[in-house]
Amino acid sequence: MEKLSNPTDIARETLKQLALRRIVPSPDHYEAIYHEIAQTSDDERQHAGLKELIQALEGLSGQNPEAKRQVEQLKRIIRKEEWSNLYDQLIRCFNAQSSQSELSKTWADLIKDLILQWDLRNPAYPPSRKKEALDRVLANFGNNSTELNNKLVGLIGSWSETGVENNVSPASDVAAAINDLTLSTETTGINWQDWRESTVTALEVGLAARLLHNPDLQQETLTIANEAKAVGNQADMEKWLPRLRKFWLKLELQNDQEDRLADGLMRLLRLLTDNMAEIVIDDEWVRGQIAVIQTIMAQPLDMRVLYDAEAGLKEVLFKQSQVKHSLVEAQAALKNMLTSFIDRLGLISQSTDNYHAKITQYATKIEAANDLVSIRHVMEDLMQDTRSMQIDVLRSRDDLLEARKQADLAHSRVIELEKELTALSDKVREDQLTGALNRRGLEDAYQIELARSQRSNAPFALSLLDIDNFKKLNDNLGHAAGDKALQHLVQVVKDLLRPTDTVARYGGEEFVILMPNTNLEEGMLVMQRVQRELTKRFFMHENEKVLITFSAGLTLAGVDENRDAVLARADGAMYLAKKSGKNRVETV
Ligand code: GH3
Ligand code: MG
Ligand code: MG
Repeated sequence: MEKLSNPTDIARETLKQLALRRIVPSPDHYEAIYHEIAQTSDDERQHAGLKELIQALEGLSGQNPEAKRQVEQLKRIIRKEEWSNLYDQLIRCFNAQSSQSELSKTWADLIKDLILQWDLRNPAYPPSRKKEALDRVLANFGNNSTELNNKLVGLIGSWSETGVENNVSPASDVAAAINDLTLSTETTGINWQDWRESTVTALEVGLAARLLHNPDLQQETLTIANEAKAVGNQADMEKWLPRLRKFWLKLELQNDQEDRLADGLMRLLRLLTDNMAEIVIDDEWVRGQIAVIQTIMAQPLDMRVLYDAEAGLKEVLFKQSQVKHSLVEAQAALKNMLTSFIDRLGLISQSTDNYHAKITQYATKIEAANDLVSIRHVMEDLMQDTRSMQIDVLRSRDDLLEARKQADLAHSRVIELEKELTALSDKVREDQLTGALNRRGLEDAYQIELARSQRSNAPFALSLLDIDNFKKLNDNLGHAAGDKALQHLVQVVKDLLRPTDTVARYGGEEFVILMPNTNLEEGMLVMQRVQRELTKRFFMHENEKVLITFSAGLTLAGVDENRDAVLARADGAMYLAKKSGKNRVETV
């Protein structure tokens, strides 16, 4: 049918159709046929009052997803003219508005808060844990916008607290299982008996059994499991949960330590095996080194012990390669001396044999000589021979004395070198690869600076830095490039430090910087200067720029404090810097 646009024509056609179709000309029927002829859309057909109502509700809904959903439902009811459902649907719309304004946030605010809390650092919620929690919420509630909104509000709230959040499961499966159990007791009716059984089994069978190598943690797991046996109501649970959360954190830290430890051990073993061929010059020495490794293996493993062994081995290997040459030479010289000594002995006994033979000969001649002239000749010959014999003997004696002197010299040189070799580990103060101080050098420098700080009462700052993702650099560019990167870093650090500051290699890719007469703010400025410089002076590998970053912990050394405690504190801050996204300096 051709579309009419003039209202008068439409009205006329409507009346005609009512008559033709024999329809009762009621207002409803008239309206329906009128719109059919005018071909008005559903939207245009809507009553102005209803349109106003929908517009008002849409305005009120704002970003409230549930309210919007209810308004859409309302529109559908109106379009289908299901007037009997209209009242209930209107009530639903209003309820959605009010419930949302109490519990939920608008999506715009929510996203703003989410980004803010995501960026803010919270030691209890490192980025990995935030990501895990967010993934869980998105996976579980992603297709229910109201629930999603509420869960996200809860999640953001918990990220801003310092404790560990309920909905977030720590890395381990056992932790996730217990958290889920704990959650379910919170949301549904609680069967404490079931809860206790599952939790205790998870802790005892799932976790404690896997902690055989760490008796302390194993004991703590069993203690917590025991405490769980006494949980019988919500109040008990609230008391018990903080203990569990603290324990998860400790467990996670421990896992990380263990990974680093295993890596260190591998490096050490590789170093030893790679260099076996180099060190076979002295069996005694090889046995000594193997004994050192065996002693280390017998102790509880610890990163520092490993590094000490590794650093010691590297130093001795380096020095060994230097002295090996002289040692070989000295041994060869001694052998030469001995050979010539024996040769000389041979010569002497030869001359002596000749001498005896001649004496016998002369004795016979003398016996046979029966006139003075012949005797005189014999005597003259004998004297001549004896003289040359004497000269021979004297010469041999001098040679012998000289040979013995040289042999003594070579022998004492060998003894000296062997002593030097044994004492090497005690002498070396510098890291051979980077030229930074080594651990022993650090100990000395630390003592000196601490004493100075005690005398002058000036602050003494210490920073521990660890290169970020160094393993990846090694894997991608090779170990030799990794070594060069370490040298580059130390060069940049040395160039940037003040004359009174000191840098020492503390572990594989960990360095300690001592900053006497420096407070935390100044220390932070120094460390930031190094960070900035590294973004300008790139490490170059095969004409490619490679950016090296590090994470560091900065702290003040207390005058009466034990050095290891200061280093452990700096290490903790460095660990925090790693957990908060790396390439940063944390103070503590
Ligand atoms: P993170 O950012 O967490 O510190 O990661 P990372 O890869 O730097 O740390 P990780 O401790 O896992 O790896 C350190 C790597 O440093 C492992 C080891 O192969 C390497 N490394 C240690 N000492 C040396 C060395 O003397 N030369 C080279 N080339 N690599 C070393
Ligand atoms: Mg490291
Ligand atoms: Mg590292």
